[in-house]
Amino acid sequence: MPTYAYRCRDCTGTFELQRPMSESSAPARCPEGHTDTVKLLTTVALTGASAAPAPSGGGGGCCGGGCCG
Ligand SMILES: [Zn+2]
Repeated sequence: MPTYAYRCRDCTGTFELQRPMSESSAPARCPEGHTDTVKLLTTVALTGASAAPAPSGGGGGCCGGGCCG
């Protein structure tokens, strides 16, 4: 489940909530009980997902096989 960060405009505190994407824009209540909160634009951490891009180049390239020069 994604984790979303919110900021409370009442106590200026930040907090995180784990909630479904369908409820990401739903009102969030800060730990102090305030409801005047805004959702922060943060990197959504998807638990269990490994979407790291593979590095480009290397591994079977021309210069790696000794055919350069
Ligand atoms: Zn608060």
